[in-house]
Parts: sequence; C-alpha cells; structure tokens
Amino acid sequence: MEGCIFCKIADGSVPSSAVFEDARIKAFQDKSPKAPTHILVIPKEHVTSIADLRESDRSLVSEIIYAAKKIAEDEKLTGYKIVFNVGADGGQSVDHLHLHLLGGWPKGEPDNAVLLKL
Ligand code: AMP
Repeated sequence: MEGCIFCKIADGSVPSSAVFEDARIKAFQDKSPKAPTHILVIPKEHVTSIADLRESDRSLVSEIIYAAKKIAEDEKLTGYKIVFNVGADGGQSVDHLHLHLLGGWPKGEPDNAVLLKL
C-alpha cells in the first residue's frame, strides 16, 4: 500500500534490521525498542490490523505466530511476550498488521509494565 512504512520495509525499499524473511513474512528489529529484545513480525501483504482480517487470512496469522516462536528460539529467549495492538484505541500507531515479540529481560524479571510502553 502506497505510503505504508511497513510495506516499504517488506519490499526492501526502506532498510531494516531483518532477522527473518520468507515468502509471506518479514521480521525486523523495532527502531525504538521497549525491551532488550523487541522484534516486529509483519505480513508482506498489506493487512491493516487484526480487526481487518478476512477469513482467508487465518493461515497468515498462524504463520506470523509460528515465525515469532522460531525467532524467539533463535534469539534464545527463555520467555517472552507477544502483543498485537489493534486500532488507534488499542495503541496501534502503524496501520500495517504487526506482532511485537518482546523479551530478553534478566531471568525471572519480566517487565510486565511493557504493555504501557507500546
Ligand atoms: P504500534 O504502536 O503497535 O503500531 O507499534 C509500531 C512500532 O513500530 C513501534 O514500536 C515503533 O517503534 C515501530 N516502528 C515504526 N517505524 C519503524 C521503522 N521504520 N523500523 C522499525 N520499527 C519501526
């Protein structure tokens, strides 16, 4: 979608610190991390938010969550949080569906206030 920053990251026209990519999904470091590890996982296709999912997008969401699990293993996260902000009233600031993968806090000390920072 024209003007969408995450579409540009998906097609490589805007650089990102990518950690994972396949045919349908890309994952990259958040530019303003709210946790020691803060990675965004996006569909390459423009989907605005969870609220705009179509029935046909169900497998895409599964792929996004499974990619997050694999990235968490690669990053050696022993525990983590997965967050989707949905809509402006849910704190979503970029209108391209994205999963926040957050972790890497000192062992036994997860930042449970991280939701307030997203
Ligand atoms: P949200 O508030 O849920 O929409 O989250 C958007 C996230 O995208 C924020 O955590 C931003 O720091 C992050 N972000 C925005 N632009 C970029 C970018 N160009 N590269 C990496 N992360 C970005």
